[in-house]
Amino acid sequence: MTCSQCNTNFCYRCGERYRQLRFFGDHTSNLSIFGCKYRYLPERPHLRRLVRGSVCGETPLLLPLATVLFFFSFICLVILK
Ligand SMILES: [Zn+2]
Repeated sequence: MTCSQCNTNFCYRCGERYRQLRFFGDHTSNLSIFGCKYRYLPERPHLRRLVRGSVCGETPLLLPLATVLFFFSFICLVILK
C-alpha cells in the first residue's frame, strides 16, 4: 500500500514501512526480523520474536561458513585435477 501524501510504501496490515536487507529478508518473509507481525504467529509475539531473532542471529554465522566451504571445495577441485 502506498501513502497518497508522501508515496511511502507501507504494510496495510500493521502500518509499518516495507524494509528489507539482503540475507535478512523483507516484510513478506515469515522468518525475517523485518517480517510482518500478522504473517507469522500473530497471537504469540514472544515466540515469534524468539524464532525470528534466532534465525537472524544465525544468518551472519552461516554466511562465512558457506563461503569457506565453497572456497575449500574449489581448492580441492583445483588440486585434484
Ligand atoms: Zn505488516
